[in-house]
Amino acid sequence: MMSGEYTIIDNQKVSGSVPFVPDPVHATVEFAASSDKDHKYLSQAVEEAYIGVECGDGGPFGAVIVHKNEIVVSCHNMVFKYKDPTAHAEIVAIREACKKLNEIKLSECEIYASCEPCPMCFGAIHLSRLKRLVYGAKAEAAVAIGFNSCIANGVKGTELCHKSNLEIVKLDASIAEQVFQNTKEKFSL
Ligand SMILES: [Zn+2]
Repeated sequence: MMSGEYTIIDNQKVSGSVPFVPDPVHATVEFAASSDKDHKYLSQAVEEAYIGVECGDGGPFGAVIVHKNEIVVSCHNMVFKYKDPTAHAEIVAIREACKKLNEIKLSECEIYASCEPCPMCFGAIHLSRLKRLVYGAKAEAAVAIGFNSCIANGVKGTELCHKSNLEIVKLDASIAEQVFQNTKEKFSL
């Protein structure tokens, strides 16, 4: 897998003022090794997005939390079902993973989100101490089919991404972008 499929949006460490600069050789090896895994779990998050819409549970968003290469929880947006505007896929996944692991910190876990997290979810990802975020679609793809434009500033529009040691990876996955066009006729905002 080509390392060029990845864009590292933020990889700075909390304690250091020196930005992390990956060694090109080692970075390639690292990302090549993780690439199949990342695509697998992101595909699962995308699958959840479709399931959530088919069930009528919520909008087309999925999230998967992984611990030591095993899926802890696989969730989707539950806003319609719960009548809860905060029941985004990432929030549901964090709540369920904490319950399942009996922890309030998920510092050994990674979260895979079908779409770039909104500000609320991005905040929750930080509060739960998740160590890594991998996402597929840009939030703009959701905004394009009618979702609130405020969701587009989750990662880029906050200081959080410069203050934490969260590794954020935007995976180049067209399947994640396609979710919105493929489901937009199946729910109403
Ligand atoms: Zn959200």
